[in-house]
Amino acid sequence: MRSRLKSASVQQWIFLGVALLVMVQLSWWIRLQVRQSADLLAARIEVLKAGRAEAWQMDSRTVLPYYAAPETVLRRGEIVGQLPKLLPTLPERRKAIETAFPHVAVVESPRALDDPQMVDEAAFLTLRPEPIQELEASRLSTLWKAGLEGAFMAAAVLFGFVLIYRKLAQEMDLKLRQRNFIAAVTHELKTPIASLRVWMETLFQRALSDEQKVKIHTRMDQDLARLAELVSNLLEVARADAGSLEMNAFPLDVAPWLRAVCEGMDQRLGPGSLGMQLNLGQGLWVMADAKQLATVVENLLTNAFKYAHPPRTTTVTLGSSAEEVIIVVQDQGVGIPAKELPRLFQRFYRVGDEMTRQVPGTGIGLFLTREIVERHSGEIRVASRGPGLGSTFTLRLPRIPAPQPGEAPAPSLEGLPR
Ligand code: ADP
Repeated sequence: MRSRLKSASVQQWIFLGVALLVMVQLSWWIRLQVRQSADLLAARIEVLKAGRAEAWQMDSRTVLPYYAAPETVLRRGEIVGQLPKLLPTLPERRKAIETAFPHVAVVESPRALDDPQMVDEAAFLTLRPEPIQELEASRLSTLWKAGLEGAFMAAAVLFGFVLIYRKLAQEMDLKLRQRNFIAAVTHELKTPIASLRVWMETLFQRALSDEQKVKIHTRMDQDLARLAELVSNLLEVARADAGSLEMNAFPLDVAPWLRAVCEGMDQRLGPGSLGMQLNLGQGLWVMADAKQLATVVENLLTNAFKYAHPPRTTTVTLGSSAEEVIIVVQDQGVGIPAKELPRLFQRFYRVGDEMTRQVPGTGIGLFLTREIVERHSGEIRVASRGPGLGSTFTLRLPRIPAPQPGEAPAPSLEGLPR
């Protein structure tokens, strides 16, 4: 148990470590993206500003020549006059600037600290807000895209890791249950054998009254039945695994068959010890392998016996719906915690841990039970109101019409309890 806890917590630490690593990697990557996109935005704004400076230079080149000496007009070598120089007007200059540099605007007062003033004008060159807004929007969308891609990547990695982690945990759990199972089977085989040996020695070595002999015979019979049940369950599980669980299905009249199985179990477990009440509806038929189905009911009754303290009360009810035959086995025993219910039919699964388990068992009874029920196209469910409040197993099988007279099969001896 301790080693299981240890390996489970090692797994959890590894998982946490990897999750942390992925998160650190992701946040580092996102920070890098944010920084790179901010640098890119700054560089693009610098390019726009360079364009603004170029616009200013172009405008200055247009205007400055007009400040040179006016051009003289000569006729036959004589100066006859001077050509007046006309500066281009501000609207003409604005038009020229805005045509050559669409992202630059001519404004009356500066919008940014570094907006240059136009030569000889109370006007400034500034960057239009739209291209900057566009750049910022494109940066934002790039960041979103990168963030989403990163989140998707991280989610995919974590999801894969969770799958691997769960698979590993399941495998470890199965291994542990397998180990427990082998220990339990060994114990379950040894106990009745040891008990049989003691009874044999008692029979041979002592002079006993007839009454004592009958008592010992009964005990030996119970030990043998316990051995036979275990071996039979083991064989059936092996067959189920190999896919060779044989089905000899015939129409089965459930009520008389179920009564015989229950009464047989009552005898085996000790007459009256189950405190059994039978409520059996009549005339209900299923297509079933009577022997295999008996294994199901026997397992449920054995559990009702094992997991309840005397005086026990066990109710077996046979009912039906239009399409199903329903067998309910209810006990007032130790009950089952809600969180254990979904795993109860798993192979080798036993409630609690080795330290706290009082009742011997192997954890294959309910697994085999479900295998057999599913082979009959039925289903089995368990319910419990919780520890100490008993358990209810409900078995549903497809109902068939009663065979017509003459059609009914000969009663199968195989359905009778072992
Ligand atoms: P086993 O009884 O050999 O351990 P089963 O497969 O029959 O194996 O049952 C699996 C587990 O389900 C048992 O170990 C027990 O903890 C729980 N269980 C089964 N039937 C009952 C019941 N009627 N009441 C309480 N617990 C039960």
